[in-house]
Amino acid sequence: AAKAAGGGSCHVVTQALRERAAHRLTVENDLRRAVEEGELRVHYQPVVDLRDGRRTGFEALVRWAHPRRGLLLPEQFLDVARDCGLLAAVDGLVLEEALGFLARHPGVHVAVNTSARRLDGTFAATVARGLRCRGLSPDRLTVELLEDAIVPGDPVTESELCALATLGVGVLIDDFGTGYSALSYLRRLPVTGLKLDRSFVADLPQDAGSDRIAAAVAGLAGGFGLTSTCEGVETAAQARHLAAQGWQSAQGFHFGVPAPEERWFPLSSGSC
Ligand code: C2E
Ligand code: MG
Ligand code: MG
Ligand code: MG
Repeated sequence: AAKAAGGGSCHVVTQALRERAAHRLTVENDLRRAVEEGELRVHYQPVVDLRDGRRTGFEALVRWAHPRRGLLLPEQFLDVARDCGLLAAVDGLVLEEALGFLARHPGVHVAVNTSARRLDGTFAATVARGLRCRGLSPDRLTVELLEDAIVPGDPVTESELCALATLGVGVLIDDFGTGYSALSYLRRLPVTGLKLDRSFVADLPQDAGSDRIAAAVAGLAGGFGLTSTCEGVETAAQARHLAAQGWQSAQGFHFGVPAPEERWFPLSSGSC
């Protein structure tokens, strides 16, 4: 009986795996179509100056307006995009859209997320071309990279980051504190800012460990002359606490949720 039960649960596992694989393939085919047919959208979340609460810019965040499943968040499709080689296409669409947003709204600043895979030796040139053909000042754009995207000593990563820095585009380390990289890259690479991961903000101001990490990272940013931003600020108490630690900027539901362009610029014609 034990044997039969074992075989049964094994069968269930295999069945589950098979269903997962089938589901993934469906999402993959669906995503290819979505990219071609323009179902990806960009939402913008405000970034504010913690000292006075004023809005200084936005982060562009991808969404998938799925015809049947509704509005999908990145966690529901970026892994599939990564696995099937579509992430660069997704990032490319978001970059184009964000540049259009900059062109439509003089004076605003935008940050876009970029995957490691896009730092392939052509990325900085693509960014430069996109800015130039729209006559946009490079300091209005920041590129957000996960720590894991930084491969110290990799010549392509380094030349891409240097090219972005020369251009005058900001380079920010996203979700700072959650990656595995050694801090030594801060010494050598032209990074311009740190963004503290929201896991270190969530339990503020009560949690002593979070408090120490947030304070230390603020000090690190200050010491290197980097801009400092924290994400996931959901309460006024968190905002006050982080401001007192010297954090410059913040984003989070307390200040504004990611929303379509029309939400922030209701009177814009939307055309460029
Ligand atoms: P991220 O770059 O760390 O973006 C911040 C995420 O935190 C966003 O999730 C945002 O909606 C969420 N968030 C903002 N404020 C709060 C808050 O107060 N509380 C909580 N609980 N969450 C908050 P979202 O939009 O689901 O994006 C998830 C991740 O997907 C992003 O994390 C980013 O790493 C990635 N991503 C988004 N768009 C793109 C893209 O165009 N390209 C690439 N490569 N990655 C992207
Ligand atoms: Mg980001
Ligand atoms: Mg982040
Ligand atoms: Mg994050």
